[in-house]
Amino acid sequence: MAALSRRAVFLFKVLACLCFFGFSQGKKQFTLRNLPPLQKASSFPTARPGAYDYIIVGGGTAGCPLAATLSLKYKVLLLERGGSPYGNRNISYMENFHIGLMNMAPDSPAQVFVSTDGVINARARVLGGGTCINAGFYSRASSSFVQEVGWDEDLVNKSFPWVEEKIVQWPKIAPWQAALRDGLIQAGVSPFNGYTYDHISGTKVGGTIFDETGYRHTAADLLASGDPNNLRVLLHASVHKIVFNSRQGRLKPRAIGVQFADENGRLHQAFLNNNRDSEIIISAGAIGSPQLLLLSGIGPKNDLKNHNIPVVLHNKYVGKGMADNPMNSIFIPTKSPPRQSLIETVGITEAGVFIEASSGFGQSSESVHCHHGIMSAEIGQLSTIPPKQRTLEAAQKYAHTKLNLPKEVFQGGFILEKIDGPRSTGHLVLTDTDVRNNPAVTFNYFSHPEDLNRCVYGIKTIERILKTNLFSELAANVAGFSMERVLNMSVQANVNLIPKHTNDTESLEQFCKDTVITIWHYHGGCHVGKVVDQHYRVLGVSGLRVVDGSIFSKSPGTNPQATVMMMGRYMGVKILRERLGRAAGI
Ligand code: FAD
Repeated sequence: MAALSRRAVFLFKVLACLCFFGFSQGKKQFTLRNLPPLQKASSFPTARPGAYDYIIVGGGTAGCPLAATLSLKYKVLLLERGGSPYGNRNISYMENFHIGLMNMAPDSPAQVFVSTDGVINARARVLGGGTCINAGFYSRASSSFVQEVGWDEDLVNKSFPWVEEKIVQWPKIAPWQAALRDGLIQAGVSPFNGYTYDHISGTKVGGTIFDETGYRHTAADLLASGDPNNLRVLLHASVHKIVFNSRQGRLKPRAIGVQFADENGRLHQAFLNNNRDSEIIISAGAIGSPQLLLLSGIGPKNDLKNHNIPVVLHNKYVGKGMADNPMNSIFIPTKSPPRQSLIETVGITEAGVFIEASSGFGQSSESVHCHHGIMSAEIGQLSTIPPKQRTLEAAQKYAHTKLNLPKEVFQGGFILEKIDGPRSTGHLVLTDTDVRNNPAVTFNYFSHPEDLNRCVYGIKTIERILKTNLFSELAANVAGFSMERVLNMSVQANVNLIPKHTNDTESLEQFCKDTVITIWHYHGGCHVGKVVDQHYRVLGVSGLRVVDGSIFSKSPGTNPQATVMMMGRYMGVKILRERLGRAAGI
């Protein structure tokens, strides 16, 4: 009997233990203790540089999880042109979101570019990439997207939680976001799907990479999941070109190394080892990756010749099919300064229009002085600049004068709409051969009538939301505002460089075209089947892949960062499994 009860106690303990591990799955404590040293590029030896299994160009949203995963088994060199996100208050604190985007210094984590369409945009230049400068909203791709791109669903379902358990949280929903949630449901964007990362029609609250104190967690944190003994991270390492071995007799040119400049402008070279499975992986983002392929001699041969770049491989598709999801926003003034919120709630409509919102500004000593930056949608609020004079210089000057305005004038929030999978596409071409400079990018917003129809649908949905009066407690006299007045304020608040028209408030089509801005979800330039194959290997050469937002023909989910980080992890595991089979153990 005593033996039986001892066995029962033992079994109970085993069961309790199993339960504990079962329940704690996905909630493992994640710390940054394991981060590899972040070294300056100048520390790289010029004499006898080590040889690597993988060289990853771009320590961004996809590049960091990819490097961490590959380092579990192989020697990895990660080259990032920007600096460290740690210790930078504009990156770490949500209240400084607008200020960070405003910083135009040559080493700013946000590099401004203006598309030829006249829309002011930004690209990341920092370890952690877009996750260091973005609005933090986290929402997975739909299962139909996963099927369309041909990913292994089982591995996708393991890779999303790998990211989430480390850096994603649920927001403490702000009043402005709660009003949008209720307004969306009343306006018919239903059902309410609660708090979920999943992409489901209706209204939901998504995840965020800001924690409850407003502190930002980024893709750079994911490097702590790698093996620090195998992972070398160099900052301020600007890769100028990929080095190929085009020996005669070789069927295809083979990528063998990279040339990069350090923070002092000194050139270095890094090479792969001789293993035929070793690779260079470009994760430089939707602007950086096609740009680097072109600078390395892969692209339309006439364009390359125009810049005296020796042609390694003619491919007319590099830089083609670029797209940016158009965003249009409606400005609503509020009675008192609303609590700051970036994006927490989203309405996913059947028509392929996503409705989101942002409100207020941070109240830190840095942000309280109305220095919110020309990259923020809020810049033009109370604008005094006639639309035709809205050059980039004028916008900068305006941003500066805003420093002296009282903070009360910056009271309000935006409801915005994003067009999913725009049919309008454009292209990217080099303007010169300096990798630090932006290429010329054209998105051709609303050149396809379907995109314009959907924009009009989105504005009408926002009108219905405003009519639900759920904003009346927050908004200053919203019930008394006609839609024409609301549109007019929104035209005033707009900050693109597109000339405005007098009928902007009468024709919603004209309003959409004139006030289009970006939600920074641009993608494409290295499309599957045109520039890379199904496994993202660059067509026509060996030893080279591209893994980042440039391979997408459609931006995933309501907002892409979840899927881009997931893809970094996913591709890391895929590559390890390809090379090691079961021995990958992952
Ligand atoms: P990136 O993350 O940009 O990574 C590319 C990296 O490569 C960068 O770090 C860059 O410095 C480096 N690089 C480029 N060229 C070179 C070179 N030659 N040598 C060395 N390094 C190089 N998405 C969301 O899901 N939610 C949001 O709320 C959200 N808000 C956004 C707000 C803003 C202001 C921005 C800019 C983006 C936002 N996004 C959001 C979009 C999302 O952040 C991006 O789509 C995503 O981060 C892109 O990831 P990527 O890996 O393709 O590129």
